[in-house]
Amino acid sequence: MSRDEMTALQGERLHKTVETVYHNVPFYRHRMQELDLTPDDIRTVEDIVKLPFTTKQDLRDNYPTGLQSAAQSEIVRYHASSGTTGNPTVVGYTRRDLEIWKEVAARCLTAYGVTKDDVFSVGYGYGLFTGGLGVHYGVEYIGASAVPTSTGNTEKHLRLLRDLKVTGIACTPSYALYLAEAMDKYGMTRDDICLKVGAFGAEPWTENMRKEIEGRLGLQAYNIYGLSEIMGPGVSYECECKHGSHISEDHFYPEIIDPDTLQPLGAGKTGELVFTTLTKTGMPLLRYRTKDLTSLIDGECECGRTNVRMTRILGRSDDMLIIRGINVFPSQVESVILDMPEFEPVYMLVVDRVNNLDTLQVQVEVRKDFFCDEVGMMLQLRKRLADKLKSILSISADVKLMEPNSIPRSEGKSVRIHDKRKLY
Ligand code: ADP
Ligand code: ZN
Repeated sequence: MSRDEMTALQGERLHKTVETVYHNVPFYRHRMQELDLTPDDIRTVEDIVKLPFTTKQDLRDNYPTGLQSAAQSEIVRYHASSGTTGNPTVVGYTRRDLEIWKEVAARCLTAYGVTKDDVFSVGYGYGLFTGGLGVHYGVEYIGASAVPTSTGNTEKHLRLLRDLKVTGIACTPSYALYLAEAMDKYGMTRDDICLKVGAFGAEPWTENMRKEIEGRLGLQAYNIYGLSEIMGPGVSYECECKHGSHISEDHFYPEIIDPDTLQPLGAGKTGELVFTTLTKTGMPLLRYRTKDLTSLIDGECECGRTNVRMTRILGRSDDMLIIRGINVFPSQVESVILDMPEFEPVYMLVVDRVNNLDTLQVQVEVRKDFFCDEVGMMLQLRKRLADKLKSILSISADVKLMEPNSIPRSEGKSVRIHDKRKLY
């Protein structure tokens, strides 16, 4: 679709969405009335800046279904967000929403090169979390064979990868590495499996982590992004160019704003990602603030797709640690660790406050081959990592080298921050 056609389509769908929520959702009607707006004021995508924002707090204040637009009898499924940063939020889907979700999930898989000839393991959790079922229906829709492995069954998962000659997998990037470690444990190598592609998301990851996963599992690793409030996995996806994730912007209209001033930022500028759903009928959302930090890439991609791309998520604005006044993202620490062959891609940031001063400890596992009893060598390694961290983060961190396999692994979203300051 050309840019003009897309913009026109988005404008039409936006108007319709605004009209629907104005009539069906008192929360939005009141917000718009406060701003002296009626649905007729919103005709094109340029008008979107007139609309109020929606936050996670608004969803919590209207828990569980206050923002639902469709009648209860039209809702055919509920999901709840995983609550990584607080109480869960509940999302109701109509049959039409599920059809569209299936379609956008299928777009992702198609971009990764998955076809009906593939056998695809869905290693995201099934249940209230949108990851499992979201990818599952996309896999079935394109006619590939879905293997609903879910999480928590690593040994069986590995056995099925091998025996069913599974060619595609979706899971969190941290679980992909966990699988690779478990292969070592069960005496398997990447030659025992025939994975070609992996769709990884649900948590931030880095280019270095991509290399690591690709090397250890012998596949092409692609990003998949989504969030339950907007739909679930499938909101955006990487193509073979691996240069930004294409947004299904005919269904989800993206904006980037400055999280402090709330003003829109131009293409290429990093800020908070905001989505307006354009076709959702269960719980449509206007200008939902995702808290995810990224930027948009305009223009046609080398793959030929014309839909806008977003760069990797740098982190969530609420994931950001402020340590001694300096912003620190776990992804910065991760990129340093993964650049050094001595370390496993497993780490934990422990933040505390001692004598009114913030402290940051970075715990990281040393790989088996590099772990030794010689104190001098270990001290030297520790210093090298501490120096690198200091130059990237601009603050010093206390590095604690850990034995292989001593930091707890997670099968879903990984927990990488332990902020003890909140206890005081
Ligand atoms: P929550 O974790 O907020 O309870 P969800 O389960 O809906 O709710 O997770 C959605 C969030 O997961 C996104 O807002 C984003 O922070 C993160 N996420 C999802 N996919 C990716 C990805 N590919 N890269 C980075 N972060 C992602
Ligand atoms: Zn592309």
